[in-house]
Amino acid sequence: MATTAPLLWLDGTLVDLAATARPVMGHAVQRGSLVFDVGSFHRTPRGAALFRAREHVARFLRSARIVGLETSLTEDALVTAAATVVAANHLEEGLVRWSIVFAADAPDLLPRDRSTNVVVAAQTLDDPPRTTPIRVATFDDARKAPPEVLSPQAKAAGAYLGPMIARRRAVLAGADDVVLLDREGHVAEAPIANVFAVVGGVLVTPATDFVLAGITRDSVLALAEEAGIATRQGVLRREALCAADEAFLTSTSGPIVPIGAVDGHTLAHAPGPITKRLTERLVAIQSGRDPALSAPSAREAWLRYVD
Ligand code: PMP
Repeated sequence: MATTAPLLWLDGTLVDLAATARPVMGHAVQRGSLVFDVGSFHRTPRGAALFRAREHVARFLRSARIVGLETSLTEDALVTAAATVVAANHLEEGLVRWSIVFAADAPDLLPRDRSTNVVVAAQTLDDPPRTTPIRVATFDDARKAPPEVLSPQAKAAGAYLGPMIARRRAVLAGADDVVLLDREGHVAEAPIANVFAVVGGVLVTPATDFVLAGITRDSVLALAEEAGIATRQGVLRREALCAADEAFLTSTSGPIVPIGAVDGHTLAHAPGPITKRLTERLVAIQSGRDPALSAPSAREAWLRYVD
């Protein structure tokens, strides 16, 4: 065990640990243990609404449990906290970020003091979501950590380091993003997005063995099934992605970004007809404009109005 002394050297100045050094000496930074989840909120005719906030906080608590961060906060309390933060900042659309860290300044591998702090913050997006096609790259040696190393369901800060380095490599190679491969060399996911491809008329996405169970991924699968589009969750080979009729990434901030090229192979349609159809439907639901969903229905629970 170690205790951090109260004075620290920070860029040439001695500073008080309590004032600024906490983030540097804390377990979250030293070990990458911070767990987070990011949801979205949208402008609707009835004011700002959180999208699938219940699923985001459930996933947040699941991630925290995997890493060993405990809180007595309930799902309800965390959803309400998000609504409060959005309302208090008078925001209409953006992202909401739930974070949990060990409270003590203890970089020990297993902190003795297991108390935690939870922070909920609202963020606005600097740029509108990208709708023009992106180029993605894959590399044989840029893979997701396999589940026996770290569960892909743990949204822990440390899990993003490898993907971040891989993205930088892709950007240096002239692409916009990287698609990481799984242990077997099949398509896994992008650093912060799931991957979909239309192959032979079927909408395919990797199963969740190696990838995060994305909430946008789940929404897209549900909307595709509702629209009568065949879906499959399973192996997506790299060659199938390169030769797909259309492909896209899904994420909370995306929410659906068309892929125009994979490893230099240009896809036939970007955005393709299925990509366009699903994007329009998802955006209509998120903005409270889908008339089919204005009446109380199972799907209406996807929106939680802020006040
Ligand atoms: N994969 C990873 C590793 C992610 O961090 C994210 C973003 N949370 C996603 C996929 C997309 O998930 P969601 O649609 O829930 O944002």
